[in-house]
Amino acid sequence: MHATVLSIGDELLSGDCVDTNAAWLCSRLSVVGITVDAVHQLPDDRRAVAAALREGAGRGALVVSTGGLGPTPDDLTREAMADAFDDGMLAVDESAGEWIRQRLESMGLRMSEAQITMARRPVGATCLPNDAGTAPVLCRQVQGCTIWCLPGPPAEMRSTFDAHVAGTLPAGASIASREVRCSGIVEADAASRLGELLDRQCAVQVGTRVSRGIFIATVHDSGPAGDEVLEEIRRRLDPWAFGCEGEQPADDVARLLVARGQTLATAESCTGGGIGSSLVDVPGSSAWFLGGVVAYSNPLKHAWLSVPMSRFEPGGPGAVSGEVARDMAIGIREATGSDWGLSVTGLAGPDGGTDAKPVGTVWFGIASGDSTATRQFRFSGDRAVVRRRSVSTSMQCLRMQLRDVTQRLAWECVE
Ligand code: AMP
Ligand code: MG
Repeated sequence: MHATVLSIGDELLSGDCVDTNAAWLCSRLSVVGITVDAVHQLPDDRRAVAAALREGAGRGALVVSTGGLGPTPDDLTREAMADAFDDGMLAVDESAGEWIRQRLESMGLRMSEAQITMARRPVGATCLPNDAGTAPVLCRQVQGCTIWCLPGPPAEMRSTFDAHVAGTLPAGASIASREVRCSGIVEADAASRLGELLDRQCAVQVGTRVSRGIFIATVHDSGPAGDEVLEEIRRRLDPWAFGCEGEQPADDVARLLVARGQTLATAESCTGGGIGSSLVDVPGSSAWFLGGVVAYSNPLKHAWLSVPMSRFEPGGPGAVSGEVARDMAIGIREATGSDWGLSVTGLAGPDGGTDAKPVGTVWFGIASGDSTATRQFRFSGDRAVVRRRSVSTSMQCLRMQLRDVTQRLAWECVE
């Protein structure tokens, strides 16, 4: 089955609103084996929407639009559907009107003149209720194509899709895509390791993308052939691969610490708590994450983590150094009694760089009872990118240490 997705609203074309509805719909449709041929973002323009509805109906068996069903004058999806397939006239749907009135009354509100317009529909369409809002859904059959017009607010779009659309889609063809996620490897390197698996002619299609520094390989096949390809991808991307769909590097750190029955504490400078925040994102983190400090200034690194003040004096290594990363990791471990201490100190920029220590220089320290390791990186990118890469790379360094793996990572400086 082929589908077209239409996202309607001026705010999408001005860049004021990100089109999350289309992404959600594409994912829900492709999971059941429906091919989305096109996604169009359209302005609140009656003629443009009518033309897109007609074109979509001519192309496939399904059109799903979102937006333009509200009570304001820029909400024109009803009129556009009537222009596209009927005579442009709208009928008042008594039962939809009654349903809107009751819904508003249940919230202690009276129906306004503007809200009455939401009970109108093209003569050939039906109105269906919206349990998350007041704008009814429109549904219409046109020569072998079903057209669904859903409300724009994402919560209403999702709930009306589940209530009315999902049950009408072909059942059984579930082809949920699965992912292998990696960090600490650049895209070109990962792609060359995957080699012929990325060939567009392969029976099992493998897609790749990079999102916030995470390289993601996606397998679009949930059968045994997909299982085999997934396993081969994991093998080729070992040891960078940390998890599957939806996971972050911290999830694997969590698994490893839980399996060992060990705890972690953090000492952060340039990431300002970002590492702690990514650890606390993992449900159940209280079982293994004791906590951490953000020690940004030198006196605080000294007072809280016992970094000797001599490190910061002329002739010393300075705050961004392997020595200070080591002191911080040992300091937080000793201060908290954790099994592991993880530290970061770096120059996120844009100012403060020197020839010897350019912006993007970041040191990590990992202390355990047995030893303390330090690693130096030179990240490219602006302040936000350097700080984000520092968070995900620190997790990968710790994960590899917990797995006893030695692997040089992307952007790592090796003396
Ligand atoms: P509408 O139904 O057109 O009145 O849309 C109401 C609100 O829903 C808009 O102001 C946006 O905040 C949100 N919205 C509409 N379309 C989308 C979309 N495609 N993706 C995300 N949010 C949307
Ligand atoms: Mg709108």
